[in-house]
Amino acid sequence: MPIDPEFPKNHKVVGKHKTSDGSYVHFVWGPGRTDAESSTNTQVQQDYKARGEEYAPLGVHGTFVGVDWDACIADGGCIEACPVQVFQWYRSEQDVKATEMVNATSEGTGEDHNRDGRRDFTDKSDPIREQSCIWCMACVTVCPTQSIKVDEANLQAHEEALKTFG
Ligand code: SF4
Repeated sequence: MPIDPEFPKNHKVVGKHKTSDGSYVHFVWGPGRTDAESSTNTQVQQDYKARGEEYAPLGVHGTFVGVDWDACIADGGCIEACPVQVFQWYRSEQDVKATEMVNATSEGTGEDHNRDGRRDFTDKSDPIREQSCIWCMACVTVCPTQSIKVDEANLQAHEEALKTFG
């Protein structure tokens, strides 16, 4: 099931993920889903079990570059395709449960070039530098589960969220 193309209308902001120097901020939209691709993907589910982590719905990270973490199966094509390193593997910087990334502060020092830089298949592509996007759509094209929605029109929803949660 691809990302909901209307997620800013159908979901609510549940968190704000920023960089420690304040140069980047993206919002997290929830609630998440339990019926998206990661819930049935064998590699993802095996790796959750191996970690002893409970599988949980996660929602969408980012607004004008939105990544549905419930649909993301850690393919990593987007990480290699993005010409301006918008994404990083979140676990390569903070190897914590994904639910703890809803209101996280990161340095932006994670793996951002190599699809094989994922810690395992519970990792997620995090649009940590969302504001660097140049709208090339390469990430959207390569994602095998259609987990990514890039839409300049959603800049407005980001700005509105900044007014409320900035
Ligand atoms: S649209 Fe292009 S620049 Fe923007 S996040 Fe995707 S790959 Fe990167």
